[in-house]
Amino acid sequence: MKQSTLSTDLIGSHRLPVASQSKLSPQTYLDKRVTKSQRGNKRTRSQRARERLRTKEHLARLAVGLGEVELAHKIERCHSRLSVLTCGRHIARIIPNFTCEFRLCPDCGRRRSRKLQNKYLPVMRGFMLHRKVTPVHLVLTQTHRKEDRKQSAKRIKDSFTRLQRRGFWKEYFKGGTWSLEFAKDKNGLHHTHLHIIGFRRKFFDIELLRDEWLAATGDSHVLHLKPIKDIAAGLQEVVKYVSKPLDIRRFGADDLREFLKLKNMRMFGTFGEFRDFCKDFEPSDNDAAAVSELESFSRDLVEGCACPQCNEPLFDLRMSAKELPQFYEQTESSPPGKVGTSWN
Ligand SMILES: [Zn+2]
Ligand SMILES: [Zn+2]
Repeated sequence: MKQSTLSTDLIGSHRLPVASQSKLSPQTYLDKRVTKSQRGNKRTRSQRARERLRTKEHLARLAVGLGEVELAHKIERCHSRLSVLTCGRHIARIIPNFTCEFRLCPDCGRRRSRKLQNKYLPVMRGFMLHRKVTPVHLVLTQTHRKEDRKQSAKRIKDSFTRLQRRGFWKEYFKGGTWSLEFAKDKNGLHHTHLHIIGFRRKFFDIELLRDEWLAATGDSHVLHLKPIKDIAAGLQEVVKYVSKPLDIRRFGADDLREFLKLKNMRMFGTFGEFRDFCKDFEPSDNDAAAVSELESFSRDLVEGCACPQCNEPLFDLRMSAKELPQFYEQTESSPPGKVGTSWN
């Protein structure tokens, strides 16, 4: 098999669209989107905290507009008062007053993706060790259509089910995880991406997989595949879409109304042999040692404990969500040894 094709980061842009598809989907646009969404997050923590605040304000306003006053109130209350366990330079733990658990809430999304990472990273490491498989990040895409998010998600999930039934897939993959990312193009047409961590038994020719995807969808062969070198980073990348299933900055009232209808839709799941492995998995000593760095040891930290990063004693600061970005800024810029006493 041609191993070299697998190291290519972006695939698909060099291949001409099939005739039946060219009028439906601008291929280059899709491929650009895929790469863009996979770029690392370079913003500082204070910038990200400010963005989360803005997103929540935006969501609450939209909810009020739709008459969803209770939802708006929940979003506003969520993480509005914080207990921050800090040495002054590092933040060891943040305990919120309340969590709204709304799917589009960026604060609750972060918690959800952390939980998923803690849950699945040990299992993934165990699976790779015991089944001799290597992980890849596979992004499956579909053509843009005039349909709602629910139909679009069902369409790509059904295609993926068909793909998994094919001999090629069974020969090369031993299961993995999937998550959904919703998108809407300039013309208001929906398309959904399926982000997959696939555990591969052996190398294969990427062109064959593209043909298989075309057979499963009937009209799309556009996909993106990259090997995962560090499974912790790979998993973090994929669960990102659980906390951010879509671009909320361009989100309007209609989008929210439609999203509220997706209440019971699953956004993340496991499949294949990996799914069965998850059910039976109990970490051995080896597996546990291999994963301890992500286990949430911070859960046990209280006031007076040593900061895990600098050993200075931790103290508890109460603040509002609006003060958090500024506090992050202070920790980002404070020199070693300086404690942020102005917050006491
Ligand atoms: Zn929330
Ligand atoms: Zn510290």
